[in-house]
Amino acid sequence: MSVLDDVLRANEKYAAGFGAKGELALPPASGFAILTCMDARLDPAKYAGLSEGDAHVIRNAGGRASDDAIRSLVISYKLLGTSEWFVIHHTNCGMEFFTNQVMGDLLAQSLETAELGPDGFHDVGAGPGSPVGKEIDWLTIAHREQAVVDDVDRIRNHPLVPGRIPIYGFVYDVATGKLLEVPAATEAGKALVAAGQSG
Ligand SMILES: [Zn+2]
Repeated sequence: MSVLDDVLRANEKYAAGFGAKGELALPPASGFAILTCMDARLDPAKYAGLSEGDAHVIRNAGGRASDDAIRSLVISYKLLGTSEWFVIHHTNCGMEFFTNQVMGDLLAQSLETAELGPDGFHDVGAGPGSPVGKEIDWLTIAHREQAVVDDVDRIRNHPLVPGRIPIYGFVYDVATGKLLEVPAATEAGKALVAAGQSG
């Protein structure tokens, strides 16, 4: 049984019980957005209690405030009315285990999957690789809490993000399922003007 078959079978079951979800409105009912990591151990619907139609969830490697993540957040408020945002990184994130230099070198050697050992990622696959990986900023994480602060800060100070939107910073603990606030991030992301005012 292939992954493709598994997914299609699961979808058939899901669609069979779809019920009234076909009438959900386009704007998220709970009025908020989450930017979080793509890590398979994180399920924002479960850790934040979401159902279909509730919230925007933007995911990438690390949950970083990349240009593309900010593109989605701007659409999220400007066209779909979200008014509170969360940046949620997590413990044991793979983005802490390499640097731009390491990733560039790994890709330059081989396009096969690298292995993670106690001393970090190393290549076991055959070449050739490509040097193009050296030109990309992989947005790796050197310090967990600081990365949340940096991302909240970057969103807060973006010219297309209105000051009325509060941005909360959290780390999700993969060992307990708990959301741990990063107070310095939430402080950096606090609303600059009261809701309802312009700015
Ligand atoms: Zn991660």
